[in-house]
Amino acid sequence: MAGLNQTVRFGKVYLVGAGPGDPGLLTLRGKTLLECADVVIHDALVSDPILQMITPQAEVINAGKRRGNHSMLQPAITDLLLQKARSHAVIVRLKGGDPYVFGRGGEEMLALVEAGVPVEVVPGITAGVAAPAYAGIPVTHREYSSSVMFITGHEAAGKYRPDINWQAVARAAETIVIYMGIRNLPNILAELSQAGLPNHTPIALVRWGTRPEQEELVGTLDDIVAKMSAAEFSAPAVAVIGQVVDLYPILRVGKPALLGEGKPAATEM
Ligand code: SAH
Repeated sequence: MAGLNQTVRFGKVYLVGAGPGDPGLLTLRGKTLLECADVVIHDALVSDPILQMITPQAEVINAGKRRGNHSMLQPAITDLLLQKARSHAVIVRLKGGDPYVFGRGGEEMLALVEAGVPVEVVPGITAGVAAPAYAGIPVTHREYSSSVMFITGHEAAGKYRPDINWQAVARAAETIVIYMGIRNLPNILAELSQAGLPNHTPIALVRWGTRPEQEELVGTLDDIVAKMSAAEFSAPAVAVIGQVVDLYPILRVGKPALLGEGKPAATEM
């Protein structure tokens, strides 16, 4: 029966959400784990100030995957996590935003659990809520919207083949937040328009939300695509569609204080 009682000992893998970029939005639990990690494997969207919180003792691996320049494929990342879990005690898998919102965190955790690796998830603040918030857009508001839907606008490489029922989306949600949708926005907006969304529906695009380089572009279903090409607006950005965008000019005033060094600026008189 040799070999049957050979149990593989694993360290623990912590799947940590880094939030959208502003280091002040990392959870306390996430920060503690970065300070005591043996290995950190992070994605491209994790901001530098957060990477700087990692203990100098840790081995840091960038598994960043950006369109057109995949540094590691998904199965290779899962293999790496398994390999590191065999030889180290505290492994942090660090992902932008929340790891379970369009982050493939669920896939990685399933593979680890199936292999018998102890795991823990530390949620993060997702870009779809935080980027609009820093731009002055609450995703719900009693008088504007009582539902919000988070959708991926990403398609597999190649032709646009929508597998999302945009008709249903247009009917179901008062606020629509689209991740990874900048490239496909013309197609998505055409679908939403056909589904009956009025042409004057307000839309905001928020790029690099919560970071010092945050940019917003605001328009309507009718004109946002033209504005986007004129401004050469590019990813990573979330698109927010719905009446809540009307609050943008009113609530956006807090931005300089939010993007400061963590200490709120005195209120201007
Ligand atoms: N897990 C992440 C989302 C990963 S998908 C989260 O919860 O936020 C990557 C997409 O997230 C990007 O294409 C973009 O649409 C959005 N995104 C991530 N960080 C962003 C930021 N700081 N500002 C705006 N959009 C961001």
